[in-house]
Amino acid sequence: MSELRELREQPYDLVVTGVRLVSGDGVVTGGLAVSGGRIACLLGPNERPPARRTLDGGGRHLLPGLIDSHVHFRTPGLTHKEDWAHASRAAVAGGITTVVDMPNTVPPLRTGEEAHRKAELVDGTSLVDYRFHLGVAGEDPSPLREVGAREATSVKVFLAGHHTAPHVVRDPVQLEKVFRTAAEAGLRLLLHAEDDGVFSLLDEWRGAPSGYAEYERHRPRSGAIVAVARVLELVRRHGTSVHVLHASTAEEADLLTAGAHAGLPVTFEVTPHHLSFTAEDTSRVGARTRLSPAIRYRPDQDRLWQAVLAHEVATLGSDHAPHTRAEKLRAPADAPPGLPGVQEMFPAVHTGLRRRAPMDSPDAQLSCLVRLLAEHPAELFGLDERKGRLRPGLDADFVLFDADERWMLEPDAIRSKCGWSAYEGWTMTGRVRQTFRRGVSVYRLDELGHDVEFGTPDGRWLDARRPADVEPR
Ligand SMILES: [Zn+2]
Repeated sequence: MSELRELREQPYDLVVTGVRLVSGDGVVTGGLAVSGGRIACLLGPNERPPARRTLDGGGRHLLPGLIDSHVHFRTPGLTHKEDWAHASRAAVAGGITTVVDMPNTVPPLRTGEEAHRKAELVDGTSLVDYRFHLGVAGEDPSPLREVGAREATSVKVFLAGHHTAPHVVRDPVQLEKVFRTAAEAGLRLLLHAEDDGVFSLLDEWRGAPSGYAEYERHRPRSGAIVAVARVLELVRRHGTSVHVLHASTAEEADLLTAGAHAGLPVTFEVTPHHLSFTAEDTSRVGARTRLSPAIRYRPDQDRLWQAVLAHEVATLGSDHAPHTRAEKLRAPADAPPGLPGVQEMFPAVHTGLRRRAPMDSPDAQLSCLVRLLAEHPAELFGLDERKGRLRPGLDADFVLFDADERWMLEPDAIRSKCGWSAYEGWTMTGRVRQTFRRGVSVYRLDELGHDVEFGTPDGRWLDARRPADVEPR
């Protein structure tokens, strides 16, 4: 550190002292210095080099800026539900500094060229840095061969449809082609792994759901299990790298963990809502937790938590997918699935960890979350040379977090454009106090926890390298 400073003969832009620095391996007391938007060096507990600005963390935890690799910010075409300005405010309030956005917009995002156009649309409206997942048409996956790492390194495939996901790959021959093409192009496939055929068959027999009490029965675990078994078979045949999204059942956690154990390049994601709610909640609160995949019962939720604690899960993703109140108020058969979650994910899962693993220290719990929400997503999506850790040379993205503060999510603190949250009124343990992106404050809560200050929406479209087949465990 001193070497760099003498070279520049000027103070650092920012020095943060008095914090507990969190990595996936553990927690140490110290601080860090920022220069030119990057982390210049980590500091020991008593180091206080000169700086233009200083921040005393007061003994709170400092985490790397979190990465949400599963968001639907609804741009272009669906901006009546959400837009980048609102969603990125929700993100930084939840400690997220980088997002990877899903392609099921109107029109869908399918080519590198379209990614450039989308980045132009987002430019100047985002508080967070961003990447995009591409979509694919089953009838012709060949455009995937033309995609460069600059544009995308990952492709979302829907095996089941819903309101904002009409582009389902149902035909087994087409699906096989998608897996083969992605493997040849070195792209990671992200799977919504529920089998559409299973659901249509059941609907023809039983009819559409007329209430929320039976919603889970209409979108049951069999759809997910059938799809995941098929995905594993395709991975075995083609060697495609696959990340299965929003695993919701015990069987998926078992099959995917077994697949990885057998050496297949498969990883999986769990969402905060599958960890936070059960089907009993859906029968009570209705549309807010009408989701796809459906929220399951307690034994599945227990298995998902176990998968989190046993390091079987690779990433947590919010699946931030807002809809307007009016859309959610449609009849149960027609209300769209999805809920906002980018703001709620980190505090909600931290609160759940406190409850689920009370024997673990707060430090161990935060290390677990840093693996799932920073280190692993950075590795899986080729961002680890810039994001995911508090390490000299990387972007100065970090989150000041009070792990013990108890607070309630009040309606006026909800930042998503849709204006509602399934977590409204929840008592959370652990609160984001301040979020920095590339060395600049993008979110700050005042000491009393009432007033909020956001930064300038100058988030950037990130470059990435094509990731190696890392299997974070
Ligand atoms: Zn999604």
